[in-house]
Amino acid sequence: MTHEVPLSPPPAEAATPPGGAPGGTPEAGQATPAQPAPPAPVSPAAAPAGLAATRMAATGPAATEEADVIVVGAGPAGSATACYLARAGVDVLVLEKAQFPREKVCGDGLTPRAVKALVGMGVPVGEQDGWVRNKGLRIIGGGVRLELPWPELSSYPGYGLVRTRLDFDEILARTAQKAGARLAEGVTVTGPVLDATGRITGVTARSTADPGQPERSYRARVVVAADGNSSRLSLAMGLSKRDDRPLGVAVRTYYTSPRHDDDYLESWLDLWDGPRQLPGYGWIFGMGDGTSNVGLGMLNTSDSFGNVDYRDLLRRWLAGLPAEWGYVEENRTQPIRGAALPMGFNRTPHYTRGLLLAGDAGGMVNPFNGEGIPYALESGELAGRFIAQALARPDAAGAERVLMAYPQALKAAYGGYYTLGRRFVQAIGNPKVMQFATKHGMPRPALMRITLKLLANLTEPRGGHATDRVIHALSKMTPAA
Ligand SMILES: Cc1cc2nc3c(=O)[nH]c(=O)nc-3n(C[C@H](O)[C@H](O)[C@H](O)COP(=O)(O)OP(=O)(O)OC[C@H]3O[C@@H](n4cnc5c(N)ncnc54)[C@H](O)[C@@H]3O)c2cc1C
Repeated sequence: MTHEVPLSPPPAEAATPPGGAPGGTPEAGQATPAQPAPPAPVSPAAAPAGLAATRMAATGPAATEEADVIVVGAGPAGSATACYLARAGVDVLVLEKAQFPREKVCGDGLTPRAVKALVGMGVPVGEQDGWVRNKGLRIIGGGVRLELPWPELSSYPGYGLVRTRLDFDEILARTAQKAGARLAEGVTVTGPVLDATGRITGVTARSTADPGQPERSYRARVVVAADGNSSRLSLAMGLSKRDDRPLGVAVRTYYTSPRHDDDYLESWLDLWDGPRQLPGYGWIFGMGDGTSNVGLGMLNTSDSFGNVDYRDLLRRWLAGLPAEWGYVEENRTQPIRGAALPMGFNRTPHYTRGLLLAGDAGGMVNPFNGEGIPYALESGELAGRFIAQALARPDAAGAERVLMAYPQALKAAYGGYYTLGRRFVQAIGNPKVMQFATKHGMPRPALMRITLKLLANLTEPRGGHATDRVIHALSKMTPAA
């Protein structure tokens, strides 16, 4: 398809949403290549007729490949962006440095919010499709053990899922391909291509497996950075992380365990660094395949952040658990690996000079509970819908107006909630507050049920229970920043 949006930048103008956020408000680490392999060509198999042909223009020694939109990274954010763009008929090319299947350091836990986003993308989520369902969250802390079922809501399903990122991310990438997106695996993006005004007009990339090969360039009208927490593409565009936003660090590994088929996600609040209770939690998620994903995460709002040996903290915590659960060295099946959790919009602006940020690249992990997958999927959907609208505008100024409204839509969806989250993590960074909250919150199941809704961001956007309305009103009243 051809969109006549000139590549030269129009003057910056006030943003106007394209008829509101697309689809309404979105109710809706790090990767390791499995093994070196030659660069995969853009897969034509899944591309529909009309989009399959790769448009090439000879511009110098290496050919330039073109697409309407280039998405850098095929994690949840990149695949969701590509999926929604392809469904809108846009020619989208995803560049992914790894080859699927590839590992990603994660807890592998999906709340009902993530399930909803998967359903929206058309991913089959039945148990017969290999997903392990969970009924809720079990919280253990302050000598209390509470099982809190996921809330029954019209907006979200009453169950969560577990799946290793090894095949989760591949499922999403193949879903985007089936929708018509082109995917090039084994291609590492090395930097932006800029025009004279500093606007991004494409990217350069090289083969991941054979970095000695000449770089090649890719040209597009719009580029999406969905390259995760470190987002080198954003950095190269001058967008560094914000120090005034929270950051988490988490480590995880797998153990064979009789608890592998637990039907609750489990979280432990009692993480101690000597006499100090740490702001964070340990988790045990049954993978349904004979193993449990076991890990812990903590926040940079604590004085202990940066001074804690996380692997040692994990071992110390596990040493106190019942021996029959099997979380001991002999049963460990993977190395202990860790990565950062960029929270509460820790990289902004989410749109500038032709580049949109989605998922971890835009620091979209929920500060309340450290989950990032739903926000990667939802921001990908939002980015896809805004770009599709922008490309349909007949002139550059109109397209720019639409793209500049993407950050506003993100703020409207999460801004107030993330501001509340930042205050929350600031408060629990004080060990006394964390201890007080555990001691006085845990014995009160009714209070904890409301807390679960707040922490997992699971409320009805309209109507619903009084507690939903209070949480919602709080988020809306709190200024997005
Ligand atoms: C230990 C840990 C546990 C976690 N547990 C959970 C959990 O249980 N539930 C949850 O919801 N969230 C969890 N998270 C957060 C979650 O993993 C992230 O929020 C999520 O992966 C973000 O998705 P993304 O698509 O934005 O980025 P990513 O998943 O990081 O994907 C980025 C993609 O970009 C590719 N890429 C990077 N650079 C380039 C480049 N230069 N060129 C081409 N491709 C590139 C990468 O290979 C990767 O495929 C956890 C995080 C950690 C660290």
